[in-house]
Amino acid sequence: MHKIPFNKPHLIGKELENINRAVLNGHISGNGKFTERCHLWFKNKYGFRKCLLTTSCTDALEMAALLININPGDEIIMPSFTFVSTALAFVRQGAKIVFADSRNDHPGIDEGSIERLITPRTRAVVVVHYAGVACNMNVIVETANKHNLIVIEDAAQAIDSYYLKKPLGGIGHLGCLSFHETKNIQCGEGGMIIINDEKFEKRSEILWEKGTNRTAFRRGEVDKYGWVDIGSSFLPSELNSAFLYAQLKSIKSIQQKRLIQWGKYFEALKNLENKGYLRLPYIPDYATHNGHIFYVILNNKKEKENLLKYLNNRGVLSVFHYLPLHLSEYYYSKHDGRILPNAVMYSEELIRLPLFFELNSKEQSFIIDLIYKYFKR
Ligand SMILES: *Cc1c(COP(=O)(O)O)cnc(C)c1O
Repeated sequence: MHKIPFNKPHLIGKELENINRAVLNGHISGNGKFTERCHLWFKNKYGFRKCLLTTSCTDALEMAALLININPGDEIIMPSFTFVSTALAFVRQGAKIVFADSRNDHPGIDEGSIERLITPRTRAVVVVHYAGVACNMNVIVETANKHNLIVIEDAAQAIDSYYLKKPLGGIGHLGCLSFHETKNIQCGEGGMIIINDEKFEKRSEILWEKGTNRTAFRRGEVDKYGWVDIGSSFLPSELNSAFLYAQLKSIKSIQQKRLIQWGKYFEALKNLENKGYLRLPYIPDYATHNGHIFYVILNNKKEKENLLKYLNNRGVLSVFHYLPLHLSEYYYSKHDGRILPNAVMYSEELIRLPLFFELNSKEQSFIIDLIYKYFKR
């Protein structure tokens, strides 16, 4: 049986050439030529004021938690329907996570529920642009400003997605991207922190370079460098940046392909939505997405499990997504007990269909036919 994987990391073909150049440059530790090229690429393309490559999005989120000085007892509001890393970075600093529910029409945070979760201990709101679809940022930023809170965007899935005309990751005080091999643009493991608020700019370079002012030293701003703050080794090797740079240069063709595949699923499955068999992704007017995930929502858990089994038994590796973090083994006992029905609903009823650069049109038609056959049984 011909198996169709859920994801296959895409190679542009220039990655090894770039890595070779990095090696010949004689500098393969971090913060070299390719890292600078990647930073510049993002600044030029999206107008980000400052960005720093990291070894993962998890790392970028950890940097964010350090940058905003999270201390034990601080509270952070974030959705429960997300990946572990969104919460982990803040929990490591001793924060208490106050989980919000997702919207009913979209897995993003329910922006209207944020205000009543705010207490005098709340420090930040972390939003997750699920499937590269923007959360309602105007409402979120307005609510946060009113209560003097920091906004951090977990834009791990959201490279090249927009809220109105603003690129995601570039709206909150800080934004974090991922270049993990499951994301649209990848280098195996990689990430980036975007610093949109000037007040975090200087310190971000120091945390990034193990608590030293080495970056300022390299620019000739200080005549020696030393230990000036906390930090870690957040910066990636030039080998990773060289690989990533090749991918960034090809973003147009990668995005084009994914959006065509996404659109094909959407058009082909509309009929099943009209008949009430499933729900398709809802894209709010303010969101321009990047084709990161194509999901469908079934009517109940049993239906989801049956369809997953049906597809997997026929070689189509479709998958569900997150177990809500408020019900996780690690955080369950620390959660305040609120029921978050939409987070649970997405966890029980949502499945993701294969979507990757090399997925060909015949394979995609095969997947669509299978879904129709399932509902005709
Ligand atoms: C992938 C992902 C992460 C983690 O990214 P890494 O680069 O693997 O650390 C965090 N948050 C979300 C929402 C993600 O999808």
